[in-house]
Amino acid sequence: MTKKRHAEIAGAGFAGLAAAAALGQRGWSVRVHEMNSELRAFGAGIFIWDNGLRVLNAIGAYLDVRNGAFAAPAYETRTDGKCLSFQAINGPGQYRLLTMTRQHLHAAMVKAALAAGAELVTSSEAVGATPEGELLLADGSRLPADIVLGCDGVRSRVRDSLAIPQERNKYKDGIIRVLTDRTGLKGGEWDHVIDFWAHSPRTLRILYTPSGENDLYMAMMAPVADTEASSIPINPAPWIECFPQLAPALTRLGDRGRYDVYETTKLPYWSVGRVAIVGDSAHAMPPTLAQGAGCAITNALGLAVALEETDTVEAALELWEKRERPLTDHTQRRAAEIAASRVLASGMKWDDEGLRAARHIPTGAAMPFVDAA
Ligand SMILES: Cc1cc2nc3c(=O)[nH]c(=O)nc-3n(C[C@H](O)[C@H](O)[C@H](O)COP(=O)(O)OP(=O)(O)OC[C@H]3O[C@@H](n4cnc5c(N)ncnc54)[C@H](O)[C@@H]3O)c2cc1C
Repeated sequence: MTKKRHAEIAGAGFAGLAAAAALGQRGWSVRVHEMNSELRAFGAGIFIWDNGLRVLNAIGAYLDVRNGAFAAPAYETRTDGKCLSFQAINGPGQYRLLTMTRQHLHAAMVKAALAAGAELVTSSEAVGATPEGELLLADGSRLPADIVLGCDGVRSRVRDSLAIPQERNKYKDGIIRVLTDRTGLKGGEWDHVIDFWAHSPRTLRILYTPSGENDLYMAMMAPVADTEASSIPINPAPWIECFPQLAPALTRLGDRGRYDVYETTKLPYWSVGRVAIVGDSAHAMPPTLAQGAGCAITNALGLAVALEETDTVEAALELWEKRERPLTDHTQRRAAEIAASRVLASGMKWDDEGLRAARHIPTGAAMPFVDAA
C-alpha cells in the first residue's frame, strides 16, 4: 500500500479550510494550524458568488452554507437618493449570490474539513516554512510534509519567511464592517442588497446586506482622510446625516465594528519548493468585487486537483499557478481599479470585466449542486 501524502497547512481561514477539505477528500492526511485559541471567523458578513458556491459544493460544505444564508431577490445601487442600477438575482437563470455571516460560512467549512479527515489544531502558530517542505512553529517544532500551505492571511509569516518579494498597495478608502439585527428593516426593499452612496455633505457608502433571517451586515466605506466617519467606536452622526433611512440600524451599533483600509498584495510567484502560498497571503484584494474569499477557496480547490493530476508536487504547483493565476490577477486588478475610482457609485455594471470570476466554473467544481432538481 502506498503511504498517504501529507500536508501541513498554516491558517484555518477560508483558504486553509477549503484546501484541507479538498486534500482530505483526495486521500491526503492533512493538519491545519490555527494561531488563535478557537476556530472562528473575523469580520462580520460575506458575499459568496456562484463560483464560491460551486467550490463549497465540491468540498461538501454547500448545504450547510445554503441553510442559514440569505438569498436576496435583488441587488441595487442608490446614489444620492437615486436608483442607478437594479438587478434581479438568485432566481432561475440569474446570478447567484448568497450573503451570510462569516461565522456561518466558517462553521460550515470547519465541518467539511473535519468530515474529510483533516486535523485542526488551535493555538498553533506558524513562523515559517522551508522550501524542502517543513512547517516551522512558534514552539520550535519542524513538521515535515509533502506539501506546506501558507494560508495564513495578508500578514503571512510563511510567505515572509521565504523572502518572496511583494507588491503592496493601500488605497484612499477603507471599510467598517458591522453585524447587527434586522429589526425594523425587513421585507420588501429591505430584503434587497442595497449599495447606498452619498456624495454630499461627504463621500460615504453603506453596502446594506441582509445576511440571514435576523442578521444585517453593513460594510461602511469611509475615506481614510475622513477621521470622523472612519473612527471606531462608530460615530453614527455623519452616517445618519448621509443615510437617514438606515438610522434604525445605525443607532444600535454600540462599540462594534473595525475599520480596514483597502489593500492589495501581489507576489511574483505563488510557490517556493514544496510550499504554496494560498489565499490572501498570495493575493489580498480590495473587497469591491466581493471575490477575495471566492478566489482564495477556488485556488485552494484548484491546488488539490492539480496535485491529483500530476506526479510530483513541483509539477502540480507549476500547473496550478498557470491555470488559476490569470483569473485571480484579473479580479485583483479590477477590484483595485474600482477601489481607486469609486466607480461603483454610478451603479454596478454586471459585465464580464467585473463578474468574470463570479461566472467562472472553478477547477474541480463542475459537478451539479447537491440540491439541483
Ligand atoms: C472589508 C472586507 C470585506 C470583504 N468582503 C468579502 C466578500 O464579501 N466576499 C469575498 O469573497 N471576500 C471578501 N473579502 C475578502 C476575504 O475576507 C478574504 O479574501 C478571505 O478572508 C481570505 O481568506 P484566507 O483564508 O486567505 O485568509 P484569512 O481569512 O485572513 O485567514 C487566515 C487564517 O490564518 C490564521 N493565521 C494567521 N497567521 C497565522 C500564523 N502565523 N499561524 C497560524 N495561523 C495563522 C488567522 O487567524 C486566520 O484564521 C473581504 C475583505 C475585507 C477586508
